Amino acid sequence: MKLLRTVPDLRAALAPRRRAGERIGLVPTMGAFHEGHLALMSRARQTCDVVVVSLFVNPAQFRAGEDLAAYPRDEAHDLAVAAERGVDIVFAPALETVYPDGFATTVAVGGLTEPLEGEARGPEHFHGVTTVVCKLFNMAAPDVAFFGQKDGQQAAVIRRMASDLDIPVEIEVLPTVRAPDGLALSSRNAYLDPCDRERAIALHRGLEAAEQAVAHGEREPGAVRDAALEAMAPFDVEPEYLALVRPDTLAPVDAVEGDVLVAVAARVGPTRLIDNTLIHTNGRPR
Ligand code: AMP
Repeated sequence: MKLLRTVPDLRAALAPRRRAGERIGLVPTMGAFHEGHLALMSRARQTCDVVVVSLFVNPAQFRAGEDLAAYPRDEAHDLAVAAERGVDIVFAPALETVYPDGFATTVAVGGLTEPLEGEARGPEHFHGVTTVVCKLFNMAAPDVAFFGQKDGQQAAVIRRMASDLDIPVEIEVLPTVRAPDGLALSSRNAYLDPCDRERAIALHRGLEAAEQAVAHGEREPGAVRDAALEAMAPFDVEPEYLALVRPDTLAPVDAVEGDVLVAVAARVGPTRLIDNTLIHTNGRPR
């Protein structure tokens, strides 16, 4: 496995592979690898000839007062784990490589970046994400890029960006990997103390309750939401938002029919967590 830090080195490593007609897969990450990241790498390994993992904690997607300084970083561990998964190239650029002096461009997707995480963290969070992901797409020119459903809104925003800007990349979104008790794996779970770790299961329980309500025939979004809130209450976890929206447009749904994304965010102690579930119904009312 190669560790590369500059764009010319990355392009030089990929050019002959591309010329040979090989399929290049990119997995963008901020490091601190867990099984969620590894699932993306494994899928890339199965379906691509060349697997590139980018490792860059992107300051542009953190707001002042968020956890940029505290964000877990362990490059040596990440490199070992990536090598074990058969990754070909880890691209870990320096801050100045991604944002050199004079950097002045932002890639901003409208609309989709405003609700949910956009409301909680500001749309600038997603502008930071799309700017760096657009740059990574230009640097690596992958045939396919892999993202996690865990960040469902991010996946929708990136699909929109790639489509709107005619970036010739396929976007593949993979299911959320969870701990045995259902907590969605996240680098931020490392912040949870043992008591908060137990309470953190509230998000998954809420989403499960929403799924069950729909499975039992409930089609009224308010009632599905209430079922989720009720399941979260015993954990003393109150969501910042808990919303039923369309997975692609993130518009609130009037009725639970077709594809619905139930998205939740909550603070558990000092740690902010997000999770979501995709529900598919044929729309038959109760
Ligand atoms: P991050 O390093 O947190 O920016 O995440 C890098 C990629 O891994 C993103 O596409 C995330 O959506 C994805 N990811 C994070 N957690 C999970 C998870 N539990 N299951 C699946 N994918 C995940």
